[in-house]
Amino acid sequence: MRLRDLPSVDHLLQHKAALSLIALFGRPLTVQAIRENLDILRSTAHYDQPAPNAEQVLNQAESILNSWLSPTLIPVINATGVIIHTNLGRAPLSHASRKAMSDLSVGYSTLEYDIERGKRGKRETHPAALLCRLTNAEAALVVNNNAAAILLALTALAKRKEVLISRSQLIEIGGGFRIPEVMRQSGAKLVEVGTTNRTHLHDFEQAISPRTKLILCAHHSNFKIVGYTSEPSPAELVALGRRHTIPVINDLGSGALLDTAAFGLAHEPTVQESLRAGFSLVAFSGDKLLGGPQAGILLGNKAIIDRLRRHPLARAVRPDKLCLAALAATLRHYLKDEALQTIPIWQMIAVPEEILKARAEVWRSTTCHGEIVSGRSTIGGGSLPDETLPTWLLALPASHPNALAAQLRRGHPPIIARIEKKHVILDPRTVLPEQDELLISQLKKMAALG
Ligand SMILES: *Cc1c(COP(=O)(O)O)cnc(C)c1O
Repeated sequence: MRLRDLPSVDHLLQHKAALSLIALFGRPLTVQAIRENLDILRSTAHYDQPAPNAEQVLNQAESILNSWLSPTLIPVINATGVIIHTNLGRAPLSHASRKAMSDLSVGYSTLEYDIERGKRGKRETHPAALLCRLTNAEAALVVNNNAAAILLALTALAKRKEVLISRSQLIEIGGGFRIPEVMRQSGAKLVEVGTTNRTHLHDFEQAISPRTKLILCAHHSNFKIVGYTSEPSPAELVALGRRHTIPVINDLGSGALLDTAAFGLAHEPTVQESLRAGFSLVAFSGDKLLGGPQAGILLGNKAIIDRLRRHPLARAVRPDKLCLAALAATLRHYLKDEALQTIPIWQMIAVPEEILKARAEVWRSTTCHGEIVSGRSTIGGGSLPDETLPTWLLALPASHPNALAAQLRRGHPPIIARIEKKHVILDPRTVLPEQDELLISQLKKMAALG
């Protein structure tokens, strides 16, 4: 092919196919894609191949445009059985939370406007009253996520001062959240207390100096320390803090408002217990066991929350209006005592085994594929490590399970499964019931392909 046989950009833009690309993608981007394609063709040109005609060049440009613009953040079906799957967006939202976000996104809102007085209002007021009513906390502050909540607390309360933490709690949560690194960012000096497996109250007592401004407890969200271990109880640490007038903050991580022990799981410390124990501050995520949008929630002592609120960093980590709308709607479910029926992650935790078995049976019988086996689902999201819930799975036998799983991922929407012993495993627990039909139709297509 001779390079001068390639059609010119101007010539291509006159073509009928180019006009439809411009209608779909706009002129500037279409021109860019055509140029990019011509560049590729020039650099890969071969003498023994004919130059592509205008139509072919524009077809390739269309693929380029699609690859640039097709969304990458898209819904998937989570069939992994991991309820709070951080890679898959943690908590799915309740119907009311979704509606609240969508209603609010359409137009203007009272985000920072006081309707009664016709004056500027406060963004923080929206979920704060609900949070306080629900937990009996004195005050509440919502930020962008729990990492931001901890960073804000450390910065506002202990910058250039000392923070005590047990060596057994120098945790790393997935996604690069490491207590010592957050501490460094905040400018607070980390004072490690005790040993990896055993820390005693007197270790804390001895570590206290005039520079100590905070004691931090961090929940072992995603691991267990077993064997010869000990840590001071929350009550002991709180009492120690009181004696020395040092605030004690509890980073709870998952922030359960309901008792997980009611569902055959280990007891995850609840927000209410933590507040009752007397922590000055309790911090947790909005999108773990709370089952709401990504957010960091700080509850506790009013004077301390006010200090955090006024700190310049609070402005940098403030939540957006859609998050606040969804969070408030999620909190209302708890207040109305309907969380188990309305919040997807709690529905998933509470669903009876027989219902899961029946759903897996329907998947199997309508697709005539695989077998039903018993298995375990997990909570995930750095909550309740090692704790599982009994479930029923559809197990698809496959000589190349990786290939089958990849095929499921290429569906619309993608189905994310797990692989166990030459089987692709689908757990109905984490598949929203309204996704069953979509899942079945995709499984049928695959069964038809063999
Ligand atoms: C998950 C977790 C965090 C981080 O929370 P994000 O909301 O993801 O920022 C911090 N601390 C603990 C103990 C956690 O479990």
